[in-house]
Amino acid sequence: MALPHGIVHVEQLAVEGKRVFVRVDLNVPLTKDRRVGDDSRITAVLPTIRHLIDRGARIVLGSHLGRPDGQVKPELSLEPVAARLAELLATEVVLADEPAGDGARKVVGDLREGQLALLENLRFHPGEEGNDDAFARQLASYCDVYVNDAFGTAHRAHASTAGMVRHVGVKGAGYVMAKEIDVLSRLLGDIDRPYLAVVGGAKVSDKIEVLDALLERVDAIAVGGAMANTFLTAQGKQLGKSKVEGDKLAVARNFLRKASEKNVTVHLPHDVVIAAGIDAEETRAVAIDAVPADQMALDIGPATIETYRGAVTRARTVFWNGPMGVFEKPRFAGGTFAVARAMADNRLALTVVGGGDSAAAVVQAGVADRVTHVSTGGGASLEFIQGLELPGIAALAAP
Ligand code: ADP
Ligand code: MG
Repeated sequence: MALPHGIVHVEQLAVEGKRVFVRVDLNVPLTKDRRVGDDSRITAVLPTIRHLIDRGARIVLGSHLGRPDGQVKPELSLEPVAARLAELLATEVVLADEPAGDGARKVVGDLREGQLALLENLRFHPGEEGNDDAFARQLASYCDVYVNDAFGTAHRAHASTAGMVRHVGVKGAGYVMAKEIDVLSRLLGDIDRPYLAVVGGAKVSDKIEVLDALLERVDAIAVGGAMANTFLTAQGKQLGKSKVEGDKLAVARNFLRKASEKNVTVHLPHDVVIAAGIDAEETRAVAIDAVPADQMALDIGPATIETYRGAVTRARTVFWNGPMGVFEKPRFAGGTFAVARAMADNRLALTVVGGGDSAAAVVQAGVADRVTHVSTGGGASLEFIQGLELPGIAALAAP
């Protein structure tokens, strides 16, 4: 595995007997009765934790959960997460009742080799998101070695992702972080062509920077989702009641002009699946010129699926962000799942999925293990592929 910018992999760190702080992303969904709804973020960091347990490190885990905004919110305690983690590892996980302070210090001080403690929700303290130096120093005082395995928060300059790192002598990337950096940096380097980006989702405004950055690298872009509606409207199509960003038509037109100047092909839907609303029973596919005034475009249509499938199949590099339709409803999931399967079936290409909803769609389509990489970070992966510096990664690389 190639880690750029002089970042050290956790496997290369001497951790035996050391106190190792690991920033993990245990921001899992909780059920109403406060149990872990989906434990995939917990299972994702097990390789790093097991590696450290096996080497007799004294492990201090830090994570945020939800948005307590610097206040103690008991309903956002990491307690259910600690319980699930203990179950998965079949070992004790001590939960400190605060992110920092005398209690946390005691818990860390009592750790024996191979033992594990979890600090309480870091965002219970305002110093976490404020990247306050006193809080960062406190966290740093709990460890000899710093490991970041929380790619999903790497685009935030917080105390546990950036501030504390300069106060710890030895630092490195965990397995999750290292794989993200490895695969996503390949998209910024010499890639095999054609390079296709598939972009969709809710809004042009959310993604215009990503689109602009992709324009510099890709050979073609296939657009779906509500984002496509805005592009099509910019081209003068009538899309009835479809979700369209009326104030982004000039942005869309400008983008299409830049793409044509750069000889980047932009595929837009030539047919769509329409309905009266997202809960309507009745749906049908119509040509893009035939959307009735009282209907909404909620997925790409079968002819467009064929075009996009063909483009994915011919590509040797594919980056996908943003669903092709309202995939949360099975009636409008066809386009999104077809793109997911086409990526999985292309065994010759580097296939990367980024974005929270897109990652969920690939899992729902049952092909997550057949694409090269499903990024665990929504916003972080989008910032990375734009070539932006992520504070959490820059901190690991700093001398
Ligand atoms: P990601 O999280 O992968 O970056 P986004 O958050 O940008 O993706 O977009 C996902 C959302 O876009 C989904 O909730 C989906 O329902 C919505 N969406 C996709 N297509 C349409 C459409 N045609 N009309 C309305 N909403 C759509
Ligand atoms: Mg989303």
